[in-house]
Amino acid sequence: MRQFMASGGGHIDADTVVAADSWEAALRAAGGVVEAVDRVSSGQDDNAFCVVRPPGHHATPGQAMGFCVFNNVAIGAAWLLARKRAERIAILDYDVHHGNGTQDAFYTRPDVLYVSTHQYPLYPGTGHWQETGAAAGAGCTLNLSLPPGSGDDVYRVALAEIVQPAVRRYAPDFILVSLGFDAFWDDPLANLRLSIGGAYAPLIRSARELARELCDGRLVVGLEGGYNLEALAHGADAVCRLLLGDEPAADPLGPPPDQLSVANVRPLLDAMRELHALTSG
Ligand SMILES: [Zn+2]
Repeated sequence: MRQFMASGGGHIDADTVVAADSWEAALRAAGGVVEAVDRVSSGQDDNAFCVVRPPGHHATPGQAMGFCVFNNVAIGAAWLLARKRAERIAILDYDVHHGNGTQDAFYTRPDVLYVSTHQYPLYPGTGHWQETGAAAGAGCTLNLSLPPGSGDDVYRVALAEIVQPAVRRYAPDFILVSLGFDAFWDDPLANLRLSIGGAYAPLIRSARELARELCDGRLVVGLEGGYNLEALAHGADAVCRLLLGDEPAADPLGPPPDQLSVANVRPLLDAMRELHALTSG
């Protein structure tokens, strides 16, 4: 990989193009998350938001793919476990795509809870709600595979009925968030309907509250996708304010023009709750 990039790069797959400087950029992206988890786990910082590129959550332990070279957040989690800075990590993946690479890395492990909300079906095709982990990791993967059009209302209910109870039951000692702004309602690559004020802010507020309740506040957010630059800018601003304990500025981009009602996904939510034996909380 390093040699391929150093010699000018090219296509790794149809989506993933690298150039001569990509090696340095990819190392800095993964290293940025490692530095953040180092600083937060040692008490030097309360929390962190890693605004890194390239993103990471499609990269498997052996394969770069889907715009991703190294799986920044998974590497951060593996570093924490290897250094015994954490024993039980929750990774919350709010990118519009399923984080197949993160799931692969920890699918059979009990020391990482992987929770992903994503549009389904969509690239990369994995993340069906019945994929729940295997062997010692059975039950430690939760995939909320949502239909196109799911928006703020669906996410707020999913947070209350699925994500929060699952994280509380798992009782992590560190929380990582893979945050993609490509679930924004006007993203050019996908078709979920999240707004900054109506969904992204509640998602980050919830992650911060869970971290304070369960992990002494230890929380690191890593940037994944997001292809509407205005949403990326305003969303990143909101994340920073929330991590500082402030309220985000008024959302200049507004709510989604339309979205599915919760009734449309009620059967999926109920099936997930039954499969993972979750009660609201
Ligand atoms: Zn994505």
